[in-house]
Amino acid sequence: MTNAMKVAVLPGDGIGREVVPQVLKVLRALERTGLGFDFTHGLIGGAAVEAGEAPLPRRTLDLARSSGAILFGAVGDYANDKLPRSQRAGSGLLQLRKELTLFANFRPAILFPELIGASSLKPEIVQGMDLVILRELNGDLYFGEPRGVTGEQGARVGVNTMRYSEPEIERIAHAGFRMARKRRHKLCAVDKANVLETMALWREVVARIGLEYPDVELSHLYVDACAMSLLRDPRQFDVIVTGNVFGDILSDEAAMLTGSIGMLPSASLGEGTLGLYEPVHGSAPDIAGQDKANPLATILSTAMMLHNSFGLDDAADRVKRAVRRVLADGLRTGDIHEAETRLVGTEAMGDAVAAAVH
Ligand code: NAD
Repeated sequence: MTNAMKVAVLPGDGIGREVVPQVLKVLRALERTGLGFDFTHGLIGGAAVEAGEAPLPRRTLDLARSSGAILFGAVGDYANDKLPRSQRAGSGLLQLRKELTLFANFRPAILFPELIGASSLKPEIVQGMDLVILRELNGDLYFGEPRGVTGEQGARVGVNTMRYSEPEIERIAHAGFRMARKRRHKLCAVDKANVLETMALWREVVARIGLEYPDVELSHLYVDACAMSLLRDPRQFDVIVTGNVFGDILSDEAAMLTGSIGMLPSASLGEGTLGLYEPVHGSAPDIAGQDKANPLATILSTAMMLHNSFGLDDAADRVKRAVRRVLADGLRTGDIHEAETRLVGTEAMGDAVAAAVH
């Protein structure tokens, strides 16, 4: 397959190993329309540690670098989260994003009309919700130094550092304004500028970059007010740009508005076309290995991959339409199941979407 699009496939742990194979079925189904994909599997996270390797083996990093896109499942489990940091599954993902300078994590939160009953909000509040949370991925408390726990037992001190440089804020702000231009031309910058110096800088820099985008309406919100507004009136938002930690939390909140975290896709991008595509959810050890996981977030992430990394907008639309069709047919995994819909497992949902790709 000479012209095949090269995809690094990193299922990782837990339900990552169940949802990623569903995506491969969908991409194989797309091959009926004349496209070709070249999949190479790699180890990451707990799967790599179990094989006696680091959470991000060198081979996996090389594979990711030489691919057009990376399809990722999830990493981690509760026991692994307690290991020393260097052996923790999650550090493999953090390192991968950092090594590839994938600093812009786009998390669309769209309410499918078919799932309006699965949202935790009243239909009249959430109907038509269509927003994107843009989370900065390479900085903030997750990477800032100094960090660690020091001192004597009984009097230990834990330290993490919220840190952002002006260039880091500038590049994520540009990404936010560019995304807003492709949508409804509204950008809300979320921070905690009233308390944190780092976030005061964030606000100042975003406002300065905003002068270059006079056609985009820029607003600012403190993160606590944003958390409230997402519940009170989510439709007011178009694009939200925020730091790593706030984005992590706000996007999980937005997930609930869409019905389930199993519905939320994401794309992590840098300056080029290489991207990492993954569901927002984790490895869900509580349901792993039981054919209960919703694969739609991962399948929708693949639509983002087709659009962003390969410029295949038509193929991306086919995948999204297939998901809509299956939902309209009433198929639901347990997380979005309601009365009068048909409960199916991970495999059956993947088969149905693959069959609906035309
Ligand atoms: P989680 O997202 O894995 O699960 C939260 C809840 O949502 C669970 O009840 C789970 O069953 C449910 N859920 C998640 N995805 C689902 C899906 N596709 N279908 C149906 N239900 C789904 O978050 P958690 O429980 O906080 O973390 C579990 C593990 O995942 C931890 O080890 C954590 O470190 C790791 N984690 C990894 C990532 C990642 O790889 N990107 C992200 C978050 C958490």
